[in-house]
Amino acid sequence: MSFDFDLFVIGAGSGGVRAARMSAAAGARVAVADDKALGGTCVNVGCVPKKLYTYASHYGHDFSDAKGFGWQVDEKPAFDWHHLVTAKKQEISRLNGIYGNMLEGANVTVLKGFASFVDANTVSVNGIHYTAKNVLIATGGTPYRPPNDWSEHTITSDEVFDLPEFPQRLFVVGAGYIALEFACIFKGMGAKVDVSYRGDSVLRGFDQDIRPFMDHELHKQGINVHYNSNIDSITKTATGLLVTLDNGFEHEVDQVLMALGREPRLSNIGLEKIGVEQNSNRTIKVNDVFASNVPGVYALGDIVGAPELTPVALAEAMTLVDHLFGEDKRRMDYSNIATAVFTHPNIGTVGLTEQEAREEYTNVEIYRSEFRPMKHTLSGSDERSLMKLVVDKDSDRVIGLHIVGEGSGEILQGFAVAMKCGATKAQFDATIGIHPTSAEELVTMRTPVT
Ligand code: NDP
Repeated sequence: MSFDFDLFVIGAGSGGVRAARMSAAAGARVAVADDKALGGTCVNVGCVPKKLYTYASHYGHDFSDAKGFGWQVDEKPAFDWHHLVTAKKQEISRLNGIYGNMLEGANVTVLKGFASFVDANTVSVNGIHYTAKNVLIATGGTPYRPPNDWSEHTITSDEVFDLPEFPQRLFVVGAGYIALEFACIFKGMGAKVDVSYRGDSVLRGFDQDIRPFMDHELHKQGINVHYNSNIDSITKTATGLLVTLDNGFEHEVDQVLMALGREPRLSNIGLEKIGVEQNSNRTIKVNDVFASNVPGVYALGDIVGAPELTPVALAEAMTLVDHLFGEDKRRMDYSNIATAVFTHPNIGTVGLTEQEAREEYTNVEIYRSEFRPMKHTLSGSDERSLMKLVVDKDSDRVIGLHIVGEGSGEILQGFAVAMKCGATKAQFDATIGIHPTSAEELVTMRTPVT
């Protein structure tokens, strides 16, 4: 049977675009469909605008730090939200254009519209049917919106970037990546920020030293975290939104940001019609080459239950392309994936937490250093940094590395390479530090704390 395409990709986000482009480069006839702007979550409402807003937010801290270094900042610096939103929009449009050009340049057919399965080898977009030997579902995720009476008064990370007015008083619900990144972004821009979290320490799943350390850092910069609390109600008032927590706390704010995790964006694409198997959390069941149970139907990215990170989706796409149109040698290795949380200060983490290490290894050694970064000896800021190594004493391998401090994301990438190479503590110790940096702590910690 002849098909219109060798590969039809549903979803032009990070994973979908990479799979489409690289498959076409390998000689395949490829189409990609999306009903939204090219680039998916990462480019449009995720990593890219978030990082731009993080930069904007850091200036808030820098202006105040600068005084300690002799800068006379005569007037209180003013922040122009509308300027930032407009500049961000221009940059995102530029990136959307680059994605379009990249796909066109690779001879990928780009279709604007919602795609759904007619059968396993036929996809409908805007009423037109396209046949393909292989179909890749790369539709990504969407913020989880709990069904409740007040949801119309809340926003998610999809809306937060383009708010018509700067929220002087922001209430954030949740204490994971997105919640804390935005709490810090808006705090740095000058908002009053409250966070409600159902647990007793932020960032569940992170290392046991990072979590209380960040609780403290958030508190010090004036972010008010309400622990062990849930929303009881949100009602509209003449001057804002009245948030009531189940512990009785009441507070009027301008916006309520729900950051309660994300869910797969799979509604109405016809998975049931073609019999694609899903897990209980609705992610698609795939094997090690991202094949679903339906022959010729593949899935990758945020919808398959692996870490929801752009670089993971890109690597999965490369694995699939190699399987379909290459030598079929690549397989994903999900160990030691480094990740950064762009809070203020940044968090960087790779490998096992201390708790995970103790469950898996018999002899675990911990090296930890908490200190005031040199910059803050003069800045007047009381921000501190934390560096931690988790070592398997039997093999001497560093199996966990966790840091909090300025530039953690940048610092971490190189150390992630070392960890991927199986670096030992002795090799860390033999590495000459770069002085004066915060990162040199990671190669100069000599005495285990436990
Ligand atoms: P997270 O899973 O990180 O955080 C969700 C938060 O919501 C947690 O604090 C969780 O609490 C809380 N929560 C979940 N359900 C409920 C509920 N029903 N009631 C009350 N609280 C609830 O999700 P995010 O949305 O922040 O981020 C999603 C993913 O996106 C991340 O896991 C990450 O992979 C990716 N991401 C990566 C970024 C980066 O690399 N810098 C930035 C942003 C996102 P509890 O912990 O108790 O379950």
